[in-house]
Amino acid sequence: MKEVGDVYYAHRMRKIVGKEDFLRYFERTVRRTIEKFKMFNRGAKVLVAVSGGKDSLALLYALTSLAEELGIKVIGLTINLGIKRYSGKVAKIAEYHYKRLGLDYLIIDLKEEYGVSLDELTKVRELRRPPCSICGIVKRYLMNKIGLELGVNVIATGHNLNDLAQFIIFSLINGRLEDLSKLTPYVPGVGGLLIAKAKPLAFTYEDETLSYVKAKGLKYLTEKCPYKPKKGLQLYIRGALNYLEEREPSSLYNLVNNVVRKINPLLKGKEEGLGKCEKCGMPSKGKICSFCKVMELSKPKLGLWSQSRKNSSPI
Ligand code: SF4
Ligand code: ZN
Repeated sequence: MKEVGDVYYAHRMRKIVGKEDFLRYFERTVRRTIEKFKMFNRGAKVLVAVSGGKDSLALLYALTSLAEELGIKVIGLTINLGIKRYSGKVAKIAEYHYKRLGLDYLIIDLKEEYGVSLDELTKVRELRRPPCSICGIVKRYLMNKIGLELGVNVIATGHNLNDLAQFIIFSLINGRLEDLSKLTPYVPGVGGLLIAKAKPLAFTYEDETLSYVKAKGLKYLTEKCPYKPKKGLQLYIRGALNYLEEREPSSLYNLVNNVVRKINPLLKGKEEGLGKCEKCGMPSKGKICSFCKVMELSKPKLGLWSQSRKNSSPI
């Protein structure tokens, strides 16, 4: 983090700049990423997934600030996963910012809607998945389902350049070329089934998103999710990449840019077809989608619950 007092480090400019210049630089980087990958058409409804952390809040504010220029409508979405002493704080801080910005928003409570929390799902041994894997299935499913219900055109998430660089190295180490082939800042939707996904922060460094929320004086959640791994390959890769960037500036940018532009096009064509889940009608590569499988496996362990959403609130 190269922020000193009221000055901020702009990686792509390779210099320290003042607050106003930094805010302009950050939003310009986001706008250029959006334009380069043709993420939003004019008139698009963009659902922004907000977790209360620095990245999703930087995304929410940057998109709100660019909304008029881009001709888009920003809608906030937060999922209360039911993680004890954590999810409540996430929902509270997200709602504070939605109201502050005057945005339409939706806060979905997993336990209220489906009768089960992430805390409970992590206790189901039959799932044989770590908490973050279950969480990922739940979040992806709900974002898409809610997005379809709201008629949004694109779901935007706050993944930053460091996240993408880490994903690339992790995929390579594990030989997961099919995962790597999906790494792109924009994934088009599949008509009426899968909503397009965009990562407008794909070319902003993690310390820049932190600088942005600080420069704007935003309250954000610094507390980490209790399930976030405290050791392991992903963390070591992240540390190594930061070390590399310190010594060889722009390495991370070049890594992500080259993979997206030159390597991924060579990996295309390995994707499996997409059908509909026989249980819920949502997109699935098999007969039953991962979300329904999680619910089915957990049901006998935790008691029955409704698999369809109950009435929801806001918006
Ligand atoms: Fe979900 Fe893992 Fe993130 Fe916690 S750290 S919110 S469990 S993905
Ligand atoms: Zn399903």
